[in-house]
Amino acid sequence: MNSTLQHDLIQIEELLNLTQQEALAFLAKINEIPTTPVFENCEKAKLNAEGISGKEALKLFKERFGNMINSSTGPRYLGYVTGGATPASIMGDWLATVYDQNTQAVKGQGDLSANIELETIQLLLDLFNLPSNFLGGFVTGATMSNFTCLAVARQWIGKLKGYDIAKEGVQSAINILSATPHSSSLKSLSMLGLGSRNLIKIKTKTNREALDPKSLQEEIDQLNGEPFILISSAGTVNTVDFDDFIFINELKKKYNFWWHIDAAFGAFAACSPRHKDVLNGWEHADSITIDGHKWLNVPYENAFFFIDKKYKLEQIETFQNSNAPYLGDPLEAFNYLNFLPENSRRLKALPVWFTLKAYGKIGYQDIVENSIQLAADFGKFIEKNQNFELLAPVCLNTVCFTLSGEVNQEKVGDFLQKLNATGKVFMTATVYNNKKGIRAAFVNWLTTENDLIIIQNMMGEVLNKS
Ligand SMILES: *Cc1c(COP(=O)(O)O)cnc(C)c1O
Repeated sequence: MNSTLQHDLIQIEELLNLTQQEALAFLAKINEIPTTPVFENCEKAKLNAEGISGKEALKLFKERFGNMINSSTGPRYLGYVTGGATPASIMGDWLATVYDQNTQAVKGQGDLSANIELETIQLLLDLFNLPSNFLGGFVTGATMSNFTCLAVARQWIGKLKGYDIAKEGVQSAINILSATPHSSSLKSLSMLGLGSRNLIKIKTKTNREALDPKSLQEEIDQLNGEPFILISSAGTVNTVDFDDFIFINELKKKYNFWWHIDAAFGAFAACSPRHKDVLNGWEHADSITIDGHKWLNVPYENAFFFIDKKYKLEQIETFQNSNAPYLGDPLEAFNYLNFLPENSRRLKALPVWFTLKAYGKIGYQDIVENSIQLAADFGKFIEKNQNFELLAPVCLNTVCFTLSGEVNQEKVGDFLQKLNATGKVFMTATVYNNKKGIRAAFVNWLTTENDLIIIQNMMGEVLNKS
């Protein structure tokens, strides 16, 4: 063994203790660490011939990057839709690293990870109150979950058209309908060879992001009975709008289509008895995308898909790793590598298993309802403050607003940049209804009313200075 490696093997306890100290120091300062990153050119680096040991690497890392890591996992990072990491999820994530299992083993052989993953999927179905006809698995993010679901949809459509897309490639245009797809669904269509430009845009309801049922019906009529894929939204990123799932479910009875729901963060409405109705009917979808590293508050990279088990053959045809025909029932000698894009994978289920067991249904109801309350309160602040106006009514956890008055449109970018530069809060820019706007998404379990006060004060200060 290399002598530095040998040295580190002997020092492993000290190394992990030092790592833990660094982790604890970071978490202890999470309220003070700037929300906004400071960048330094990191591109010119050369690798030393002799290793410096883990201990020296940690020291070097802290010197080099320590002050540049921002508090994106902290309470006032409201950009994009970015969750934090609950204590138990960190426990599970650390152990997943140490155990270093590979989830490509056949269930019950090789290692335990597939069994843990399958159990965790059951816990998630229970959390979201979804039926057990879904086969679930973990991928790196909602983008890959959308990709996975749409890949199986693609295979299903190909079979209806009489060919095997996994083997023969896409031979003809495939109809894909959506009103307000997330950019990652378009990216998935690109990656799948379906072509993002081939998406048939459904009109939205007036002043909404949800699909207009009449427009959907019209587009379906145009297809003359051809099968299609419908990508629907459970939570759009600007206004957290939901498509009408009861209506879509009725259409399911009349037309032959694959119904996919991107519920990356909107799925968490299911955790709140007061808000779950926006999801009514979603249990009848063919596939659903949900993110773990957003509102579930587990570390990146974590998301899952749910695909109706009745498509297990299409799923295997799409993702089967070897070209040998599958022997027996695929759900018997079950191996995740034949059901999703990756082969070797870390045990992504473990942080989820830990956090679900640690906090339970009520813990997640509290996290979700806290975020919703904070968004409502922040929305009220925007409404009452004459300098700002809402771009859309606040729904669930996201506030989409702008500087009030047409004349101030050109100042929005500058205002946001100055606000983020305070390091006390981070929000992201958007465009909604042709207006420049700002989004604040509440998903972090740490955020409190006190954070809102800090944010509102900062907004006032930035306005006064400009
Ligand atoms: C965040 C998000 C995605 C993409 O998720 P990643 O985890 O970044 O891959 C897809 N759809 C919706 C609705 C999202 O909010």
